[in-house]
Amino acid sequence: MLDLIVKNGTIVSPAASHRGHVLIDDGKVLEIQTRDDLPPAERVIDATGLHVLPGLIDPHVHFRVPGLGYKEDFETGSRAAAAGGITTVIDMPNVVPPTATVEAFHAKAQHVRGGAYVDYGFYAVLISGNSDQILPLADAGVVGYKIFLGETVGNIPAPEDGEIIDAWRIMAQTGLRCGVHAEDNGIILYLRKKLQNQGRRDPLAHLESRPAVAEAEAISRAILFAREAESKLMIYHMSSAEGVELVRRGKASGVDVMAETGPHYLLLEGEDMVRRQLGSLMKISPPVRSREHADALWRGLLDGTIEVLGTDHSPHTREEKLADAPMGDIWKAMAGWPGVETAVPLMLTQVSAGLLSLNHYVKVQAEGAARAWGLWPRKGHLGRGADGDVTIVDLRREGTIDQETLHSKSKVTPFHGFRVTGMPVYTIVRGHVVMERGRVSGRPIGELQRPVA
Ligand code: ZN
Ligand code: ZN
Repeated sequence: MLDLIVKNGTIVSPAASHRGHVLIDDGKVLEIQTRDDLPPAERVIDATGLHVLPGLIDPHVHFRVPGLGYKEDFETGSRAAAAGGITTVIDMPNVVPPTATVEAFHAKAQHVRGGAYVDYGFYAVLISGNSDQILPLADAGVVGYKIFLGETVGNIPAPEDGEIIDAWRIMAQTGLRCGVHAEDNGIILYLRKKLQNQGRRDPLAHLESRPAVAEAEAISRAILFAREAESKLMIYHMSSAEGVELVRRGKASGVDVMAETGPHYLLLEGEDMVRRQLGSLMKISPPVRSREHADALWRGLLDGTIEVLGTDHSPHTREEKLADAPMGDIWKAMAGWPGVETAVPLMLTQVSAGLLSLNHYVKVQAEGAARAWGLWPRKGHLGRGADGDVTIVDLRREGTIDQETLHSKSKVTPFHGFRVTGMPVYTIVRGHVVMERGRVSGRPIGELQRPVA
């Protein structure tokens, strides 16, 4: 008796789509079968008319624990992920204490254990003075490292440039990758002060204080350092045309640089802060820019320069987002909003509109992150021996994004009211159904994922 069969669906990989059945046993994919003589199973899901995708991955979430649990915790965050069709998340290290030591890594793992509805991996953070932790953190099981080149929640300063190169030389021995929040702090801090001295507090002042050149400066520096250290690099949440061009050139020159962008940079425009009066609700760093930048990111996504989609799920309270007065003092609002639950329907809507094939979507929302962060081939595809992670989607199902119904602790998103065509209908983690037709069910069976040896 098998544990689970998903039958009659259209099974989608980056290369092809075909009708078939996914046989899952003991948490693993036993077989993808096209013949209709199915063995008996504990549970059978009929996916007739639906598309069966490898479990989708969000490699960029801030679930805020330990230390900032009033914004989000792993239970609420992972429920949001399950509801949104995500089977694995990778969580950021800017928590309290930051995931900068083996001790902090184990404390975080202990804190989260037994409370997650989807599988999860952890990043560690590289800060000044923790390079002795790089190899032990790899042994402990981090999937990669992060450096905050620009200021962020928790105010974790980056190491000095020379120290970054040294740290990446050590990291290169592990085979793991470092991602960077790529914004140059010098440019940002100078401009913010200048704008503040001019009395600017309006939403667009946030954009002006973090121009594309600040991202481009940080990306080019990071690519130079990765070349020098012969290490692997990820540019997180890339937001600019200049960034796309730098990553394209970096790849062409032989540097192992990958890039991530998110639905907000593809689907929103900076002007929406004023035009739609979204103001602080739309404050995020790096900021959402003009249509021209979004167009360049789309081109980068379609030509393979951008290989990963991540949401930068960054929940805050209503007060922290100035949700009751979004056109108030932009400097006082926190940056970011919850994204893990809305990404899949938003992107499926782009698939429905013909902007991206479903095959390509699977590549950037499953395979890309799994390969980047050492989880391939256990995660990121539907093949024999892989984890039985499946996201079943209904491309015809329509809906409206309603922030009040989000599972996150934070109920603030600039996508509130967006119409979507295409929604996840089942989320399956290692053979466990954790979401069924929008309802999160079952127990928190998520497990910590270490890189595949
Ligand atoms: Zn960031
Ligand atoms: Zn982030």
